[in-house]
Amino acid sequence: MTDGAVGDDRMTRRTLLASATVGGLTGCALGRPRVAAVSGGGRLPTRIDRIQTFPVRYPTIGYFKFFEGPPGSPSGRPAVLVKITADDGTFGWGESVPIPRWSYETLESAASTIEKYLAPALIGVDPFDLTAVHRIMDLNIAPGFSKGAPITKSGIDMALHDLCGRATGLSLAQRWGRPQGGSISLSWTLNPRKLDEIGPLVEAGRKRGYTNFNVKVAPDPRFDVAMCRRVRKLVPDGFLWADANGGYDPATAMAVAPKLADVGVDVLEQPVRPNRISAYRALRRQGALPILMDEGVVSPADLITFLRQDMLDGVAMKPARCGGLEPARRQVEILEDAGLLFLGSGLTDPDVSLAATLALYGSYKLARPAALNGPQFLAESVLKTRLTAKDGKLAVPTGPGLGIEVDERKLADLVRRSRGAGSPK
Ligand SMILES: [Mg+2]
Repeated sequence: MTDGAVGDDRMTRRTLLASATVGGLTGCALGRPRVAAVSGGGRLPTRIDRIQTFPVRYPTIGYFKFFEGPPGSPSGRPAVLVKITADDGTFGWGESVPIPRWSYETLESAASTIEKYLAPALIGVDPFDLTAVHRIMDLNIAPGFSKGAPITKSGIDMALHDLCGRATGLSLAQRWGRPQGGSISLSWTLNPRKLDEIGPLVEAGRKRGYTNFNVKVAPDPRFDVAMCRRVRKLVPDGFLWADANGGYDPATAMAVAPKLADVGVDVLEQPVRPNRISAYRALRRQGALPILMDEGVVSPADLITFLRQDMLDGVAMKPARCGGLEPARRQVEILEDAGLLFLGSGLTDPDVSLAATLALYGSYKLARPAALNGPQFLAESVLKTRLTAKDGKLAVPTGPGLGIEVDERKLADLVRRSRGAGSPK
């Protein structure tokens, strides 16, 4: 357990941004509310006082290729819990959820980036000024092709959404001026290594009430077509979503897309690496399947650029990939305005990141089953009340902020056990 707090007294930039009227109260859509008496008439916090990081590895269930590592590497799903405390003692929780087999961010890089670079720069900043927070984060960890270290930054963004919600007594949906949303239907992830594993894996999902399925495809197109044919036979009516995670080369993707369509796949996500721009354009022109992007769509500017290049029919959203809720929300609105597909996925999100993701998908009325497989693959929670799927659905938390309570004793215990599994410090 580490403490990224820095005793910096630099002046806070206090920016009053546009307000949104919600249920008779004046809540803030993006910045500090104009009316302080939102919750009980108290003052609102004005500055970030302390940022703490808690690196953990959640124990996992079953096989998922993204949690594999080199021989002897630590097991478990890495995450850095982030607690931000304001000057009046109000706090909020966020969670950075790196997966090194999915992108370049790691447990160690997320923890050290927050502790050494982001936290010192954010002490004293107005917690309601998310525009300034993102600008300061992007100044101190600069972009590569797009935003740098987005998964790490997402933990800060989520913690501030939670903090500001708690301070105002408003849920995220209320602060955004959006409907709360009810339950989110989930998709069960299939990652078989052999064809005869498919039946039991589908049955395991069905037993828990799931009727829709994601399949991890690539790099072997023959296996993938056979797998999807078999899944479609077992699940004639469910939404069948194939995700290649950029694992095909362009020629293979062009050859396999019509075959996947023939066996009943509904959408093909991230068939090739995101920098293969001409391949995405060709796949879209081919029109065999709706082409979704995931990896590579980091900032709203990326999405607009890819959209103008006719590279995609939609995006498999995930706030953790985008630098947090604020950039993710802007991307969902761009997709809506452009008439493109908004699908919801995640990074096998545990606890806090899962709650933030649910809030976004609930309030933006996600229409299709979400590939949120944290409840499927993760064995533990650090919440007082775990978010549990029932009949293949997850309820959107309704309380202030992210609507969840972290149990700090459970968290301390997981931090201690994670050290033994190879977490930093
Ligand atoms: Mg994906």
